[in-house]
Amino acid sequence: MSYPTPETIDTLFANQKQFFASRKTCDIAFRKHSLEALKQAVLNNREQLYAALDADLGKPRDIVDLAEIGEVIHEIDFALEHLDEWAEPVEVPTPEIIAPSRCYVSQEPFGVSYIIGPFNYPVNLTLTPLIGAIVGGNTCIVKPSETIPETSAVLAKIISEAFEPEYIAVVQGGREENTHLLSLPFDFIFFTGSPTVGKVVMRAAAEHLTPVVLELGGKCPLIVLPDADLDQTVEQLIFGKFINSGQTCIAPDYLYVHSSVKDALLTKLVERVKHDFPNIASTGKLVTSRQVARLQTLLTQSNGAVLVGGEADAEKRVFSATVVDNVQWDDALMAEELFGPILPVLTFDSIETAVDLVNKHHPKPLAVYVFTRTPDSAIPIIDAIQSGDAQVNGVMVHAFSPYLPFGGVGASGMGEYHGHYSYLTFTHKKSLRIVA
Ligand code: NAD
Repeated sequence: MSYPTPETIDTLFANQKQFFASRKTCDIAFRKHSLEALKQAVLNNREQLYAALDADLGKPRDIVDLAEIGEVIHEIDFALEHLDEWAEPVEVPTPEIIAPSRCYVSQEPFGVSYIIGPFNYPVNLTLTPLIGAIVGGNTCIVKPSETIPETSAVLAKIISEAFEPEYIAVVQGGREENTHLLSLPFDFIFFTGSPTVGKVVMRAAAEHLTPVVLELGGKCPLIVLPDADLDQTVEQLIFGKFINSGQTCIAPDYLYVHSSVKDALLTKLVERVKHDFPNIASTGKLVTSRQVARLQTLLTQSNGAVLVGGEADAEKRVFSATVVDNVQWDDALMAEELFGPILPVLTFDSIETAVDLVNKHHPKPLAVYVFTRTPDSAIPIIDAIQSGDAQVNGVMVHAFSPYLPFGGVGASGMGEYHGHYSYLTFTHKKSLRIVA
C-alpha cells in the first residue's frame, strides 16, 4: 500500500481547516445526515468487512456483528435519536452577583480533529470515535492502524463513499505518517493504542496545546472471592480472555484468585479451555508474527506452570489458549500487558493485601472485575482500586452501553466516550451570559 506524502497530508489538513471555517458542520441537520451516510456506507461494505477482518485477525462473523459493525450501528442510532437534545444550549441559574442576566452553557465544535486507531477492533475503535467527531460538529482525519491493511483499506472505502475528504478523510500510514500528522496544529486528537505511543501523542499535542483523549491499555485484574460462582467465573474468563485471541484492551489480563477456591476453579477452567479451544488456531489470529514471538519469549521466561496450551506458530500468527499457574508478581508474564491468549494465575489469602498489591504493581487499570455471590462485598474492593471501569460478575460488555462512559484513568488513559459522553468529549463547553 502506498502512503500519502507530507505535502498531500498538508493539503488535506488545509482543506479541512477551510471547510470547518465554512460552518457547515455547525448545522445539526448536516451532522445527522452525516451519521446516516456513515451508517449506510458501513452496511454497504458489510461483506468486505467480514472478509478483511478474517484476513487480518481471523475474526469470526458473529464477533464482527457484535463488537465491530453492531456496536458502530448502535452508537449511530443512539446519536441520531439524541443529538437534538444534546445540542440544545442549557440555561443555568444566574447568581445574585451577576444579575440581572441570563446564563447558558453552549457546546461548540473544536474544529479539525484527528483520530488514531488501534488494530484490535479496528472498525469499532476507529468509527465510534468518528461518530463523536461528527455529532460534535468537527471535521476529521482518521488514521487506522497499518498492521491491519485489509481492514484499513475497507475503512478508507467506507469513509470515501460517505464523505468528501475536506470534511472526513482516511490517511493510511504508520509511524512516519503519524509523526507528520502529529506535527500539525489539530484542534483535537483522539488516540486509542498503547501507553508508549500515547506518550508520543501527548508530547506532540503539547506543542500546539491541542486537547487529547487517550484510550490506552494495561493489565486488568479479574479477582475471584471465596464465595464466587465458579461456573459463572469460568464462563466469563473463557469469553473475556480468549475472544479475539486475547487482543482486547478490557480483557482480564490476569486471574487473581482466593487460595480456597483456586484448585476447583482451575480444574473447571482447564477443562473448558480444552473443550472450547481444541487446537492452536481456535482463538483466532494474533496481529503480527512479532506479537506471537513476544508472547513466546514471555512464556519461556516465566517461572509459572503451564496447565494448558503454550503452543505457538509465528508464521501462521496463532497461539493456543494458555493458562499458567503459580505466577508471582515479578514473573515475566506480569511485566507488561499481555494482549494475547495467555492467562497468568496469581493467588491471595487476604483481600486487603491483594488490593494493595494490585495498586502497587499495576495501578489504575482500564477495568477491574470482581466475582462473588455477594455483590455488595465487591464494592469496597472496586472503590479501593482506581480504574477506568469495573464490573461485578461480568466482563467487558459494559463497553456496549451508550449510557456508560468508556475510558481509562492514569496509566490507562484520560477522557471518555460513547453515547452522550462522545458528544461532550468532542465539544467545548462555552459559557454565555446575556444582559438584556
Ligand atoms: P499502538 O500504540 O502500537 O498503535 C496505535 C496507533 O499508533 C497505530 O495507528 C500506529 O500506527 C500508531 N503508532 C505506533 N507506533 C507509533 C510511533 N512510534 N509514533 C507514532 N505513531 C505510532 O497500539 P496497537 O498495537 O494498535 O493496540 C494495542 C494497544 O492499544 C494495547 O495497549 C491496548 O490495550 C490498547 N487499546 C486500548 C483501547 C481502549 O479503548 N482503551 C482499545 C483498544 C486497544
